[in-house]
Amino acid sequence: MLAPKPSPSLRDWAAAEMEGLKAQGRVRQLLDTTPDEGVTVMRGGRKLINFSGNDYLGLSRHPDVVGIACDALEHYGAGAGASRLVTGNSPYYAALEQALADYHGTEAARVFGSGYLANLGTVAALAGPQDVIFLDKLAHACALDGARLSGAAVVRFRHNDMAHLEQLLHKHRPQARRALIVTESVFSMDGDIAPFAELARLKQAHDAWLVTDGAHALGVCPDVEEAAKQAADVHVGTLSKAAGSYGGYVCAAREVVEFLTSSARSLLFSTGLPPATVAAGLRAIELIREGKVHAARPLEYAGMFTQWLGLPPAQSPIVPLVVGGSRMASFAARALEDEGVLLAAIRPPTVPEGTARLRVTFSALHSKEQVEKLAFLIHSQPWFRV
Ligand SMILES: *Cc1c(COP(=O)(O)O)cnc(C)c1O
Repeated sequence: MLAPKPSPSLRDWAAAEMEGLKAQGRVRQLLDTTPDEGVTVMRGGRKLINFSGNDYLGLSRHPDVVGIACDALEHYGAGAGASRLVTGNSPYYAALEQALADYHGTEAARVFGSGYLANLGTVAALAGPQDVIFLDKLAHACALDGARLSGAAVVRFRHNDMAHLEQLLHKHRPQARRALIVTESVFSMDGDIAPFAELARLKQAHDAWLVTDGAHALGVCPDVEEAAKQAADVHVGTLSKAAGSYGGYVCAAREVVEFLTSSARSLLFSTGLPPATVAAGLRAIELIREGKVHAARPLEYAGMFTQWLGLPPAQSPIVPLVVGGSRMASFAARALEDEGVLLAAIRPPTVPEGTARLRVTFSALHSKEQVEKLAFLIHSQPWFRV
């Protein structure tokens, strides 16, 4: 018998893998970028208008949010030091969790290290090997990762296709002990919205629980949040987008949150958030609840933008401009950067093959002139067709 071929060196293996990614236009790079004023950033010595961020309300720069974070930093230090399960809650956690529960109309809430960790830990804890998870094809990677970790059967339904979901429920629900339907309120890469009325009907008819991720709805799509409130059993979200801070959360009935507190591994085995981050999240949620933000503006800008360009009307502050191939999308992004606009190319596997895109997001900090400038620029791009 021949001896097995020895492995290449780790370095050679990684280099060969990178060649493969290069051939597919899938290499990812991290570029040094410094926040400037408002929505502008500095990159490579140039000032760019950022149309790719998720700081929809500009709260990451709000003086009250920054102020409370500075205060917490001075009083309580830079880091949390241990898991909350070990050393307890820093001062702002209880108020933040109460505010989040009130916001989503649930009894309780639990804050996790990030939105990714909240989804991962929640979905993985709520289902097991005898269960089935029905997951929208375009749901965020962290929901899929959580579903895989749970050991449950994972069944993907076509994006927002309720007839397909119903068909799959008929086929797969009867054999399973429990069923979870997992979706997103506002889809992160497409900006469209889950059909909550139909989801509520299906979960009722097929004895399933509904988990929805409202990462991109928080604070900027109140109607969507209201519909989600009526339909979902569990709300997952993040403080990293419209709330301008960092951290994820889950909101649900008290017992559900207590159960997750004792079983979600991404909560148990990870250090708590820095106190300044928790404080910033709290103040941001308060500002949103008190209506002290320009909540309607991002969606208004998105609506103007889609109207000017003859695109389907925006349903959220996210507008996808599908280019097609990964390399084309990267070229398109670079051409726009030359014009002073930061619009990142979103490529597979983040989005399905053949749908690489520029994903435009609007912030309350943009000016109308900046939105007009972007629409004009997009209109003149060779790849742009309605
Ligand atoms: C951004 C995002 C997350 C992850 O949240 P982080 O706080 O950035 O980890 C989860 N779900 C969706 C839908 C998202 O868009």
